[in-house]
Amino acid sequence: MSKYQQIHDYTSKVLDLISQSDITEEEAQWITTETVNGFRDHVNSGFLDYRKSVTKDMQYASVEWKDSGPNCFVDVNGKEYIDCLGGFGIYNVGHRHPKVVQAVKNQMDRQALHSQDLLDPLRAMLAKVLADLTPGALKYAYFGNSGTESIEAALKLAKIYHQKNGRNTFIAATRAFHGKSLGSLSGTAKGEFRKPFLPLVHGFRHVPHNDIDMLYKTMHTCRMVGEDVAAVIMEPIQGEGGVIIPSDDYLSQVRQLCDDYGALLIFDEVQTGMGRTGKMFCADHYGVVPDILCLGKAFGGGIMPASATVATEEVFSSWFENPFLHTTTFGGNPLACAAALANINVLIEEELPARAESMGEYMLKGLQEAMKGHEDKVLEIRGKGLLIGIEFVNDEIGFEVSKGFFDNGVLVAGTLINAKTIRIEPPLTIEKEQCDKVCHTFARVLSEVGKPVTAN
Ligand SMILES: *Cc1c(COP(=O)(O)O)cnc(C)c1O
Repeated sequence: MSKYQQIHDYTSKVLDLISQSDITEEEAQWITTETVNGFRDHVNSGFLDYRKSVTKDMQYASVEWKDSGPNCFVDVNGKEYIDCLGGFGIYNVGHRHPKVVQAVKNQMDRQALHSQDLLDPLRAMLAKVLADLTPGALKYAYFGNSGTESIEAALKLAKIYHQKNGRNTFIAATRAFHGKSLGSLSGTAKGEFRKPFLPLVHGFRHVPHNDIDMLYKTMHTCRMVGEDVAAVIMEPIQGEGGVIIPSDDYLSQVRQLCDDYGALLIFDEVQTGMGRTGKMFCADHYGVVPDILCLGKAFGGGIMPASATVATEEVFSSWFENPFLHTTTFGGNPLACAAALANINVLIEEELPARAESMGEYMLKGLQEAMKGHEDKVLEIRGKGLLIGIEFVNDEIGFEVSKGFFDNGVLVAGTLINAKTIRIEPPLTIEKEQCDKVCHTFARVLSEVGKPVTAN
């Protein structure tokens, strides 16, 4: 058989599987084998060692296959999991919300991607909606496909805005996560992620998070040495840093400092935006308006990859003269815009930010109740809305608990910058009974971890 014939047969088989609503046991076995082999030989075998869902001897591998209702998914063998990872926070309106799915299908049936030359209507409509939805004078939107792209755009925007006065210093926070492309990685704070790729973008400094005095001193020092700060970039609540909530007045003090020193304030709400923390945007809790707001993750309604960088006219107008200074082929494509518009429609219609607040409180209380008597293992449980972090005394216990959750049908995961902390970040549509199951599982798993394994 020719090489092309073989490839054609293989792809036909996969397309056939995708088209089926159900799979047989034999097909499940084939999918599992192909997945594990493909990861080992062609994706990155490192994932197999790392993923808790794959046993060491490859006897059992958890391969996902489909969603199950808004808050769960099912693996290839039919085992159901409550999704408390929420794809790192992409499923705010739930998995496959029918209205978002329908919007994307409708758009796909008419036109999938844009001509790149004519004016694409959904981009204009989504940008207008964002201007109304976001706080303060945020007015113009640039669209990308991922969180890191929204950060790249924000950094470039701050640079071009400050080009006239030669500012190119940025301040970010310790434990920050802004993405992994070279620009955003410059703001990201984890040494392990950054070190192999140094030097990164010139001019980045990091200050301890939630320490206004350090920020003031750094800002002032930059001025004294002639390297005035172009922008401060910050997550209002740090997600990957381990769900770190700032003190009540910190962000307004940051805003004030930025104003005093003529620096722009960039809020990275890639994870905290779209209702996650109990308000549409986390900045709304603190009444602070940034000059640039970055959105991603849940922005595409859990259906399409989509991100946005929203800025004030004062700042964004730096791009008016030549709109081609920063572009991307797929950013703001009609499918992504349809998904984002439907997402916003659903968030409002189902009052999901408020639901995040009430269910978040319920879940937080339940988890705190469950940890009673386990203070030797759990340091703290904290959160706002449905962005909740459980901090353990060490990485090992955190890992054991997340494995225990997983074995009991609840998916959770660590945070990227802070391994001691796992996150509870379910769809905002999560039901009370599902919260209860998560909390009961937590109590049970906590009483089981750390016990010496009995020899047989
Ligand atoms: C996930 C995340 C990013 C990066 O988004 P990607 O889509 O993974 O590039 C940036 N900032 C924050 C706060 C995030 O949580």
